[in-house]
Amino acid sequence: MRHYYLGLAANYSGGHLLRHTFAIGRERDRTILQQYLAQKYNGDALLTKNGRSALTLALKAYFKPGDGIVVNGFTCYAVYEAIKAAKMVPIWADINKDNLNFDTKTLSKAISNNNQNRGVPIRGLIIQNSLGNVVNISEIENFTKKHNLTIIEDLAHCVGAKYADGREVGTIGAAAALSFGKEKSIDTISGGAVVLHHPYYSKIEVPGKLPKISDTLRARFYPVFGAVARGLSHIYLGGIWMRILVKIHWVEKSADNKLDLTRKIAKFEAKMALDQLKNLREHNKVPLRTYRLVEDRPQVLSTLRSKGFYFDGLWYEKPVSPERYYKKVRFPESDCPVAVEVASKIINLPTYYNKKDLVPAEEVIKKYREEQK
Ligand SMILES: *Cc1c(COP(=O)(O)O)cnc(C)c1O
Repeated sequence: MRHYYLGLAANYSGGHLLRHTFAIGRERDRTILQQYLAQKYNGDALLTKNGRSALTLALKAYFKPGDGIVVNGFTCYAVYEAIKAAKMVPIWADINKDNLNFDTKTLSKAISNNNQNRGVPIRGLIIQNSLGNVVNISEIENFTKKHNLTIIEDLAHCVGAKYADGREVGTIGAAAALSFGKEKSIDTISGGAVVLHHPYYSKIEVPGKLPKISDTLRARFYPVFGAVARGLSHIYLGGIWMRILVKIHWVEKSADNKLDLTRKIAKFEAKMALDQLKNLREHNKVPLRTYRLVEDRPQVLSTLRSKGFYFDGLWYEKPVSPERYYKKVRFPESDCPVAVEVASKIINLPTYYNKKDLVPAEEVIKKYREEQK
């Protein structure tokens, strides 16, 4: 039986895996990537250790400590970490089921809740375009003008996507933050970048230190370790193999990648990122994943596994994932009921396999699919 995975570097097919593992990066790859991004998104580009560091720099460029930043109530811990690192306050907005993003209704609610209860001065808004599904940009832009909010675009899920009016994501806000982490739309295992479009008020320190050798080695070999895990899972040893690698720190869980504003991207990652940016269509990363909402998700996932579909690396299993960090966030569940519900029902399907191959998985999911209203 063939197995299909979400995660474990399953998006690295033969040639791509070899190119990644043996890539030789040079200093000029950093320079070229930086110039490419500066031109594509029309601003000053900085290359960073990861996406959360990029997002932190974007926030520090336009806002002050204590400012409230509106954020999608369905996201990953990295986003929360960036807001905290910038000493700002997350204002969570609920999502809708159609695109997993906030909309003007949930934004209004989040803002009026804040004004009634906490009174944090809200200055910014992070657009996430969850899983590559874009927000209704004309409505959101009107809203931000009315409330005097500065937009930051988080491109972790959506590089190359277009809004309904044809404008490309990353060209609209004051800044665009990119992640090149595992399974992001540009995936070099780690790395990130930020493009600052507007004049920024505070002086941003350019990340100048070289990456740690241990981090670069981990990024270099993760796709190989993942491929071995996928192979071993046929004899039920894939899980043990990955647990050992995590234990000896040869593999780092994505959520644990440390935020560090001082370090640059690795040279080989710059080279691979540039390659993917130039071949976006070939890499076919929009949408990044498709999703279905199901009742009784544990049952669905276990049935899927029995048929060879390992789809448990979910975005997102909690309104702010992963679960092990969720408590720390103190997420206002009663303000974001849809996010809570979606997080308990969502199943992600990878877009790097042929749709045809996923038909048996769709059959399983269909039986449990949430009633369409
Ligand atoms: C993963 C992710 C990031 C940041 O990722 P890093 O792991 O720090 O590279 C930012 N925003 C979203 C929505 C993400 O999913």
